[in-house]
Amino acid sequence: MSKRAKLQYKACTKCKLLVEPEVEVCPNCGSRNFSTDWEGMIIIIDPEKSEIAKLIGASKSGKYAIKVR
Ligand SMILES: [Zn+2]
Repeated sequence: MSKRAKLQYKACTKCKLLVEPEVEVCPNCGSRNFSTDWEGMIIIIDPEKSEIAKLIGASKSGKYAIKVR
């Protein structure tokens, strides 16, 4: 992933959802804590059917970071 792509998102420190920089409240878990220091990306399309979604605790479709510091 390029540095440029990374700068477009910040990751929720609680559920790892990736959101646009202007988002203030995480639409997945309601947290207000975000980090721009994250690595890797998982795209969840159907959380109901996705084993990965269950594994990372994602209840909402979207992009999730693999690692958030
Ligand atoms: Zn969250």
